[in-house]
Amino acid sequence: MYEVIVEQPFSAAHYLKGYPGKCSQIHGHNYKVQITVEGDKLDHLGLLVEFEVIKQAVKKWIDLFDHGFLNELPPFDKINPSAENLAKFFYDEVEGAIRQSGSNASTRVSCVRVFETEKCSAAYRP
Ligand SMILES: [Zn+2]
Repeated sequence: MYEVIVEQPFSAAHYLKGYPGKCSQIHGHNYKVQITVEGDKLDHLGLLVEFEVIKQAVKKWIDLFDHGFLNELPPFDKINPSAENLAKFFYDEVEGAIRQSGSNASTRVSCVRVFETEKCSAAYRP
């Protein structure tokens, strides 16, 4: 099995609605999104997936989220911008981009991990 990992940072403010503690107050994080793609077949160039496909899939959102207030940006105006919900959001975006890229059917996003700090992260796996 091959694995490709892309990491992209962004900084944003958020708060967690209904959270019984300090996270219910507006605060910021220097986030890092880590996308892991896996598969057992390489293309004719010897690539599992082009890094650029993954980078472009997250770039439009990171450009929007960076230095933004997540709670005002869809879908996080409706669902809490927790690291878990961010991970699932980026999973859906990148998995869709990989399907559209014409990559081998066995190539898929295996994990999206969102770091709120160096030591705290949440992940989504399909
Ligand atoms: Zn937070």
